[in-house]
Amino acid sequence: MTRINPGGTIGILGGGQLGRMLALAAAKLGYRCHVFCPEENSPAFQVADKTTVAAYDNEDALLAFAKSVDVATYEFENVPSNTAALVAANTLLRPGAFALSVAQDRLTEKDFLNKAGVQTAPYQAFHTAEELEAAFKKIGRPSVAKTRRFGYDGKGQKLVKTPKDIEEVLDVTKNTPAILEGFVQFDREISVIVARSASGDVAAYPVGENVHTNHILDTTVVPATVSDRVEAKAKVMATKIANGLEYVGVMGVEMFVNDASNEIIVNEIAPRVHNSGHWTMDGTGCCQFEQHIRAICDLPLGSTTAFGKVKMKNLLGEDILDLDPYFQDATASVHHYGKTEPRVGRKMGHVNWLEREEG
Ligand code: AMP
Repeated sequence: MTRINPGGTIGILGGGQLGRMLALAAAKLGYRCHVFCPEENSPAFQVADKTTVAAYDNEDALLAFAKSVDVATYEFENVPSNTAALVAANTLLRPGAFALSVAQDRLTEKDFLNKAGVQTAPYQAFHTAEELEAAFKKIGRPSVAKTRRFGYDGKGQKLVKTPKDIEEVLDVTKNTPAILEGFVQFDREISVIVARSASGDVAAYPVGENVHTNHILDTTVVPATVSDRVEAKAKVMATKIANGLEYVGVMGVEMFVNDASNEIIVNEIAPRVHNSGHWTMDGTGCCQFEQHIRAICDLPLGSTTAFGKVKMKNLLGEDILDLDPYFQDATASVHHYGKTEPRVGRKMGHVNWLEREEG
């Protein structure tokens, strides 16, 4: 249970907006950050004490990075396992390599979730055309084929409704290991942002309700329009997962909800701070980024209570070029990631609206 006190240095693998907001939260608590990222001009570099521009397989650079920090963390789940192992051998890595390996592979993830007593969609692994045929016999249609690794924002996925769709599956999965999942008839998508500290304390934020457009998160609203029972059950499930992984840090758990049955199905876990937790920056006293820093440094966890109703909207691409309406809105809080090129679909910033509850 190593505690790292303010004044210490936190290493962050990855220099995107999540790394940037982690570094800002760390600075608030008096920590310094060393950000490691292969891309020059990474958003997190603008707010970090120290930066390294190097590839994730550059062992010398990784070693120097690990030796320069008191604890290392990451802002993306596809940290190569060799990178994680090298860092973990030379400093504390939180969350640990186990959580990373579970979350990186949809099959390992689903196996883990089911073993932990958390419900997922039915699934079957496949790789070859014969295995795909067998998977269809078991799972049926409609179903969703997904590559086991490196899928995000709907990439590497194929919704299968017709026999013709089946023919296209292997083109989409590109003959890499994949799974076929049963299609879940859900009414809404929710997520739970949960934190577990190095000492094992757990705190979950109120459930957020997410709307995706073109597979990219558009808005998160808190509170979610779910029953108290679903709210409580979702938090229990997220807590079970965090404990089962002996997780240290903040994690996002994405779920599907069926209103009539109150059934919750876990879609996936993200072993990092999560876009659907950005509302916490203006909606709580301790946002997910500060909470992650507290968890990995083993400080007491902060309050997860929402101040009222909150809505988060992502600003994609050129949305970032017209911020005045938000600046003129007294209830809006703008977060700009400092990226210069507003490419289509690129996450450039977000806005939070808070409707405070009196009292
Ligand atoms: P994922 O990459 O697993 O987060 O999936 C992206 C989106 O596809 C989800 O947010 C859902 O809207 C949809 N989706 C994924 N898996 C399923 C499923 N098994 N059943 C229904 N919709 C799904």
